[in-house]
Amino acid sequence: MSQEKGMSFKEFRQRFQTEEACEAYLFERRWPDGFICPKCGGTGCYQLRGRREYACKHCRRQSSVTAGTVLHRTHLPLTIWFWAIYLMARDKRGISAAQLSSELEIAYSSAWYLLHRLRKAMGQRDQDYILSGIVELDDAYFGAPKSNGKRGRGTEKTSALAAVSLSEQGHPRFFKIQVSKLDVPAVSAVARRTVPPGSEIHSDALGSFRAALREGYAHHYQVFAKGSGALRWVHTRISNLRAFLQGTYHGLGKKHLQGYFDEFCFRFNRRFWPNLLFPRLVCAVAASNILGYDDLTR
Ligand SMILES: [Zn+2]
Repeated sequence: MSQEKGMSFKEFRQRFQTEEACEAYLFERRWPDGFICPKCGGTGCYQLRGRREYACKHCRRQSSVTAGTVLHRTHLPLTIWFWAIYLMARDKRGISAAQLSSELEIAYSSAWYLLHRLRKAMGQRDQDYILSGIVELDDAYFGAPKSNGKRGRGTEKTSALAAVSLSEQGHPRFFKIQVSKLDVPAVSAVARRTVPPGSEIHSDALGSFRAALREGYAHHYQVFAKGSGALRWVHTRISNLRAFLQGTYHGLGKKHLQGYFDEFCFRFNRRFWPNLLFPRLVCAVAASNILGYDDLTR
């Protein structure tokens, strides 16, 4: 496989036909320098005969290449997971659970569950991305408004904080968006997790932005006239995100909105290497950690 050219459909089919092939590929990505015991950190293992499991040479703890990741205790074959990852990576618009269920001939509930697990891996992979330099910050609202028909602030929609970091030439680099309240503690917590102190943050003059960003940041804010072109990069990303959600994933509930945000960001932050989305997503899956994560209902 040529890394730059990405993987053709034919190559993918030939390469990942069997459980063993998928497992070996995952193994290399999870443990590129050889097996490391998730329990004791020891290296070296025995492969258990006839099973996809390994026993640590030091503590004897049994493990598998999927244990602890978003594939933990999956009942679906790895070949199905790989197909799903391939299809998700191939189309920049994403794939819905209904489409995946029909393409792979699996139950809708399995397709839905699988896609959410993949989004979880994407979100975890980008968790440590730091937005530095100049950062544009804005609030955004998603979901249907309640009966009063208002738009934006003051509605019953789900609120989120969106931020884009800019290169020295003023081009967008990384994008993050987090479902969040917009009060001072929430804005402060998201900012501190995402933007290192000392960075320059541009936003409008929302009171909680001013209070939360007063300390530690060079905060530039002003009341922007509509259509002024201010905060253009973060506004563009938010509109692209809306189009992405409407294209494939319309009618989203608040509970899983963050998963779709994470998928959009994962794609955007790798937009210069679209052909590498498949291997990048497998790496994200191999590095994911699902343990302690149980708020995903089937
Ligand atoms: Zn061990």
